[in-house]
Amino acid sequence: MVESAAPILEVVSITNRFAKFTAVNDVSFAVREGEFFTLVGPSGSGKTTLLRMLVGMEKPTTGELRLRGKVINDLPPNLRPTCMVFQSLALFPHMTVGKNVEFPLSIRGQSSGECRTRAWELLKLLHLDPHRYYDKNVSQCSGGERQRVALARALAYDPEILFFDEPLSAIDARLRKVLQKELKDLQRSTGKTFCYVTHSLEEAMVMSDRVAILRAGVIEQIGTPDEIYGAPRNAFVAEFMGEVNLLPITGLGGTAATWDTGRKVIPLTLPAPLAAGTARKLLIRPESLRFLRAGESAGNSVPVRILNEFSLGSRIQYHVEVASDCTLTVQRLREERTAATEAVLGWELADSQILET
Ligand code: ATP
Repeated sequence: MVESAAPILEVVSITNRFAKFTAVNDVSFAVREGEFFTLVGPSGSGKTTLLRMLVGMEKPTTGELRLRGKVINDLPPNLRPTCMVFQSLALFPHMTVGKNVEFPLSIRGQSSGECRTRAWELLKLLHLDPHRYYDKNVSQCSGGERQRVALARALAYDPEILFFDEPLSAIDARLRKVLQKELKDLQRSTGKTFCYVTHSLEEAMVMSDRVAILRAGVIEQIGTPDEIYGAPRNAFVAEFMGEVNLLPITGLGGTAATWDTGRKVIPLTLPAPLAAGTARKLLIRPESLRFLRAGESAGNSVPVRILNEFSLGSRIQYHVEVASDCTLTVQRLREERTAATEAVLGWELADSQILET
């Protein structure tokens, strides 16, 4: 994907209201030609409603959808040069793998020889040996194999954009990882535009060129995985990324602030100035926190009690108590393991970020 690539799909101030409820609220973004674009958000954030509008299964209440600059709001799904891969895959269970893949080709009037040749190519592309799979019934295929058949069939439509609605959510974790990589490779090798929906930010970050994070029908942030990881726009995005520490802070002017744990008010130094009285969240990743040795200093330090530890393979995760009902998560390399129960925890100012709540 070229960063300057022209938008293939433009979403302009799209809103969808069901009676009094607004599921998607004034959303705008553009998907670039040849990119892997992912919409991600928690349950109920409006991902499916947005995707249904993009593929034409739902009409926007207001706003415009443009494909290569042409408004397509009123174009029915079957007349759009796009294709959707559903979570349920929607394969024909009584047909063979070959006939499933050939379906889009045969309805376009291609000869049976042409259909077979293309189906064989697509099965090979999806790592399904055609000698073994072409005549196999889809009902005898495993979940992962069926997933590949559905992808081969979607590609047989030769769509300009492939839309995916959580296609991997019903698949076990190990196979999901394999298929995530295959999907990404497939997108690269075909050069097609993929627009993907998932509730898993991890999945989005692994596969996508760019990610849009939705909350309550609104896009909170759009960016590359690196941009989102490195500079989450607010506490919601940071929290959605996984286990992070978000400290409620109030500015005292300059870089001085207080952290109110509920039981204790702790003075802190911030990485940037914050106006007096302004409430924010301070983001500190678990791996940025460390136990200070005697005489060692850090940008901020706070005494803690170590409550428990978990092995994460090469790393150890600790839960530490700062005050009652206030814990932080710390991750250290195994070789830095501590057996202490009381410690002083520290972090450098540059390893913390002030975020809007
Ligand atoms: P999930 O991950 O659980 O599928 P989602 O992010 O895809 O969630 P949507 O299915 O788009 O969310 O739903 C967004 C909101 O719109 C939800 O609160 C849902 O209850 C509401 N909603 C969706 N469809 C309708 C409908 N036909 N009528 C009324 N409300 C609806």
